[in-house]
This record gives sequence, C-alpha cells and structure tokens, in this order.
Amino acid sequence: MSIKVPFIEAEIQDQYLHDENSDRPWILGFSGGKDSTMLLQLVWKALLKIPRELRRREIWVVCNDTLVENPHIVNFINRTLDTIKVAAVEQDLPILVQKTTPRLEDTFWVNLIGRGYPAPNNVFRWCTERLKIDPTTRFIKSKIAEDGEVIILLGTRSAESGNRARSIKRHEVKGQRLRKHLLPNAYVFAPIKDVDTNELWQYLMQVSPPWGGTHKELMTLYRNANSGDCPLVIDETTPSCGNSRFGCWVCTVVKRDKSMEGLIGNGEDWMEPLVALRDYFVETRDNPEQYREKRRRDGTEKEGVWGPYKPWVRAEFLRQLLEAQRDIQAEQGESMQLISHQELVAIQVTWYRDSIFNAKVADIYNSVYNVQLDMQKHEEKFRQEEELLREVCADQPQDFDLIQQSLKVLKTKTLMVKKRGLQNEIENLLDRHIRTEKEAALSHAA
Ligand code: SF4
Repeated sequence: MSIKVPFIEAEIQDQYLHDENSDRPWILGFSGGKDSTMLLQLVWKALLKIPRELRRREIWVVCNDTLVENPHIVNFINRTLDTIKVAAVEQDLPILVQKTTPRLEDTFWVNLIGRGYPAPNNVFRWCTERLKIDPTTRFIKSKIAEDGEVIILLGTRSAESGNRARSIKRHEVKGQRLRKHLLPNAYVFAPIKDVDTNELWQYLMQVSPPWGGTHKELMTLYRNANSGDCPLVIDETTPSCGNSRFGCWVCTVVKRDKSMEGLIGNGEDWMEPLVALRDYFVETRDNPEQYREKRRRDGTEKEGVWGPYKPWVRAEFLRQLLEAQRDIQAEQGESMQLISHQELVAIQVTWYRDSIFNAKVADIYNSVYNVQLDMQKHEEKFRQEEELLREVCADQPQDFDLIQQSLKVLKTKTLMVKKRGLQNEIENLLDRHIRTEKEAALSHAA
C-alpha cells in the first residue's frame, strides 16, 4: 500500500485533535463514488485510532440526491448510507449521515415539465445550482448558524482532471492545510488531494470499508459504467457535471451518457427507456421552432430567444416519463420511482397557475397506469369539506369565499414549499375583503 496512507491518516488525526476551534464540525461530502469513499474510509480509520473520550467533534457525512440520479446508483448509495449509519453507532463514532435534496419548487421535473424550462445545456444550465449546490449549501449554512464555523472535507484530487488540479491550486494557501471556502466561516480540507488514481484503486482493493462489506459492488459499478463519479458540488469552482460520470440520468449537458450506456451494455437493459427519454429531451431542446413558445414566461418576446416548452410538449414529457416509470417498476419493483407524488401535485399547481393547460396530471397518470390516482380521493375530500363550509357560512356567503381563497393561497404555498410572501398575500386578501364589505354596506345604506 502507498506510504501516503499512514501519512494522510496522521494528518487527519492531527487536524481533528489539534484544531484551534474545537467545536467546528466536519462536513464530509459523500457521493458514493471512489474518491469520497476513500476519504470517508481514511477519516473513519483515523478516528478509530483516537481515544473514545477525545472523539467529540461531529462528522456529518452529507450526500446530495438530485432526485434524478440513476436509479441503480441511488439504490447502491442508499444501502451504503444505511450501513454507515448503523456501523457508526456500533463503533461509537460521532459520524452522522445527512441526505440533502432540492426543494420541491427546484426539482428537475417541476421546472422541466411544470414550468417548461428547456432541457439544460452549457449555456442555460439552470439545474446545477437548484439540484446540487443549493441543497448542500443550505445544510452547510445551517451548521454554520449553529456552530459558528465548519470544515468541509472534500475528496478532490489533483490527479482527477486538469480543471480540478487548477481549481485546487488556485484556492491553496501555501503551507496551510485548510483553505477558505466561498461561504463565510467555512474552510475546506482535502486530505487526499495528492493521491493518484492508481493509488486510490489499489487502496480500495486492498482495504475493506470499516463500516462493513467490501468494495466489490463499487468497483463493478465503475467497471460496468465505464465512468467517473460526479462529486459533491458545493460551489461554482467544483467541477460538477463532467463528461463521463455517475450524474443525473436526465442530463442533456453531456453529448452521451456513457455511464448509462455502459450499464446497459453490461446487461442493465431496463435502463433503455431512460436513454430514450433523455434523447427526446435533447431533440426538443435543439428544435425550439417545433417545441417551444415564442413568448417567454414573463410575457416578453425577443428575436432568437425562445420561451418555455409548449403545453402539449410538457404533457407529453409527463406521459413518457410515467410510461418509463411504469415499465421499469414492472421489471425492477415499486422502489424504482422516477417522479414523486409531491412533484406531480406541484406540476399540476404550476400548470393551473399558467392557466394555459387543458391537460390534467391525474388524467395522464390514470391513462398510463390505468388506475384512479389518489388525487381524485383528495378532490372528493375537498368537495365534502367545501360542502360543510358552505353550510356553516350559509348566512355569510362572502365568508365562504374568503376562507376558500385563503386556503387556496396557503395550499399553493405549501405545495411549493415556499412560504415567502404568504403573510402579504393573506393580508392583501383580507384588505380586499374588508373593502368589498364596506362598499357593500355603503351601497346598502344609500
Ligand atoms: S448532471 Fe447534468 S442535469 Fe444534473 S445537475 Fe449536472 S448539468 Fe444538471
């Protein structure tokens, strides 16, 4: 084994024990790929050599799920995270696991199918911030708010790519282990930056994970996917979505998804509908005359600038996505979910707001699955509640309208997980209601 390993472990121990600020927690970016796996393994082993009573600093293993990760990889990562959680408790280590995900209003489907954003390319790459940077940043900021400062441990390596090497160099402070992060009060520690790819694989082949099991599945994944991994993206300088990596299966920034093609070539045929759908996104993006509105979402028009996808295209995306999900679930089981129920509801809310849509999410869902979506049950429940409210407000029908409108505002905000502006909207509603009441009273008196 490389002589670097004992040196790196000693460096990790030293940083853990002799940090001038003993409270600041560590946040370790974990993608389930080879680099962050090696990093976590080294940290874990270094920690085991520290006496129990000195292991006081929390280490958060943070893993971001864009919700459009390759389902096969997500499954593997989730199993690994569960094992890590259990082993950390058993081995009495202050290692905690945190999964981060985009907010509902930021998910890929709500933006692509709901709002009609074009499939991303290098010029309009709206997804990286929403799906990757923001969720992790929110977590890091919450820790900074609690503890004052944090140290972010990254598995970045100079040998990984020219870009990454330049990025590491740019932020390096000579002779110092930590470098400043773009976020205030956050520092970066990259213990494996000098490990080359051969040394990394050699280490993973020779040393089993201290949380149990082996690295066989990880190695098979890399071999079959013919791929590199997409590291945890925490700022614009982190190379996020390179050419060949385990990234989002919907990614249209890359020309071809080599990792998914690699997996299919190695027998994972069930992923074929995903490749077909991704290719359809590319086609729609590259032929705006056919698939996109001339007018932008803000109502303006400009020569050469296209608006969102046409309504029928968004409805078609949803239909094809649900068909892919149905076929994959039939083969691989219910857990292979491509879109969540919450996202379906949020898409419906967005379509409803755009008020250009005849299509209903529930109708598309029902026709694909040949069932009655629960949304119908919700609708029936709402109908009954509405009846009851109408009875109660029989003497004051205007109150019925006011309550209904307030509920509608609240429901929309809740579905979009966006409470901003809620108070204002409710206050405006009340103002309007009071004004109308006054006007009605005046006209009655007159
Ligand atoms: S992998 Fe592709 S789709 Fe995913 S965040 Fe990066 S650029 Fe966007």
